[in-house]
Formats: sequence, structure tokens, C-alpha cells
Amino acid sequence: MSGNITFTIIKPFAVSNGYIGPILNKIHQGGFRISAMRMLWLTRGEAERFYEVHEERPFYKDLVEFMTSGPIVVAILKKENAVEDYRKLIGATDPEKAEEGTIRKEFAESMRANAVHGSDSDDNAKIEGSFFFSGLQQF
Ligand code: GDP
Repeated sequence: MSGNITFTIIKPFAVSNGYIGPILNKIHQGGFRISAMRMLWLTRGEAERFYEVHEERPFYKDLVEFMTSGPIVVAILKKENAVEDYRKLIGATDPEKAEEGTIRKEFAESMRANAVHGSDSDDNAKIEGSFFFSGLQQF
């Protein structure tokens, strides 16, 4: 059964380009409710821990470098079938392959600076959400 939460990050570059508002608008238009949200700047250690699953991938160091290059916005989003629907709304990892109207198509710069993160499973949505937010911070 699919869950009703997903976790997202508005990545550096999208934040520094002033896209927080436009991306949140897309999220709202997509029928998601914000359950928790805050802005922060990840330390290297935090980014390494968050992306631990990608440790063996060739782009890991670059990903950590990029994700610590400026402030980000993290949020837990609620909607029925949240994980799958949000992956649809953000589009493919590579913005050149993302469909028209998706967040990555409109706001991503490159594979590296691809505007947003979205959880890839219900289990990861819970793990990622609780990495940043306690139960008391979720509404
Ligand atoms: P996602 O689930 O669509 O975000 O994609 P992945 O889980 O495969 O990758 C995680 C993140 O790593 C992506 O969102 C990109 O920011 C970054 N990434 C993936 N592939 C590459 C790559 O080939 N080069 C670089 N520099 N970054 C990548």
C-alpha cells in the first residue's frame, strides 16, 4: 500500500536563484500539503550522512560538494500516493529528459543542480523526513 508522505529538498542554486516561491507554488498546485518545512545550510558531515546510500556512486563527492554549497529548504509533503505523485511532479533526474511542466524541467540547471530532491520509496520518505524533523515538528 502506498503511503501519504514524501520528503523534498529545494537544493542550492534553486534557492539562490529565487525559486523557493515558484517551486512551492508547483507543490501546492500539485495537491500537496506542507507538513513540515525549514531552511538550513548542511554541513559536510550531515550531507555525507544524508547521501550515505550513494556512497559508492561516482558522483557522491560532487553531490556532497554541491549540497553544501548554500542554503536549502527541506520539507515533508502530504498527499495520497505522495512518493509516486511527487516523482511525477518533479520529473526525471536529468532535466533534459524531464517532461514539460515538471519542476526539474522548469527550474533545474543540470543533472547536478537539478532543483529538487524527492524520496524514491515510502520507507525512504520516513527515514529522510525524520533525519530533519522530529515528530513535534510535523503537522
Ligand atoms: P533522484 O532520485 O532523481 O534525485 O536521482 P538519484 O537518486 O539517482 O541521484 C541523487 C542525486 O545525485 C540526483 O538528484 C542528482 O543531484 C545527483 N546525480 C545523479 N546522477 C548524477 C551524475 O551523473 N552527476 C552528478 N554530478 N550528479 C548526479
